[in-house]
Amino acid sequence: LSFSDLDLSPIMLRALKICQFENPSPIQAGLIPLALEGEDVIGQARTGTGKTAAFGIPILEQLDPLEDRCLPQALILVPTRELADQVGQELTRLAKGVPTSIAVLAGGKNLRKQTQQLSDGVQVVVGTPGRVHDHLQRGTFKTHDIWCVVLDEADRMLDIGFRPQIERILRKCPKDRQTLLLSATMAPQVRILAERYMFEPKTVDC
Ligand code: AMP
Repeated sequence: LSFSDLDLSPIMLRALKICQFENPSPIQAGLIPLALEGEDVIGQARTGTGKTAAFGIPILEQLDPLEDRCLPQALILVPTRELADQVGQELTRLAKGVPTSIAVLAGGKNLRKQTQQLSDGVQVVVGTPGRVHDHLQRGTFKTHDIWCVVLDEADRMLDIGFRPQIERILRKCPKDRQTLLLSATMAPQVRILAERYMFEPKTVDC
């Protein structure tokens, strides 16, 4: 299977070539077509499997560049600041050629700068549940236009104790959104989260 079998735009195929991604990894081959069809998907995948591009490619492919309000369209929740930075960098790399505004909202970083970035307008938010929830409560992060939420490393986020923040954030996002959940394990608490907040999810196990 090659990326050109996945129904991607010429711009994305060119970006993947520049990134030197030759063929989709198993999680990418499984998740990208389902995500492009709008399905909710549970991907069982560890770090190093290419899971970031698996959810990043369908999000970047479907971003609306002409949003006048420029409110965030996709939200990616990750367990740590380091991972938030990494995911932000990988998305920027994959967005090559297309101007894309991505905000990384991680704890321990300047709140005022993040607030400014949000008010200037962003398309994608990558953040830790604590800081994203903080912006939600302050009214600086608006969820009206979110059409996709990614719960990356869901098992780790729950282990850290982010369940209350994750649930509050999910309840504020539009009901007809798409939800993608990535987790190395399907621990009972991950299953419960999926049952509560996902709609007939398909599973991709790699
Ligand atoms: P991840 O599992 O998302 O942390 O990705 C692990 C590493 O693999 C990252 O450095 C990616 O840039 C790289 N990568 C992801 N997908 C591919 C691909 N299809 N071909 C080559 N490298 C990839």
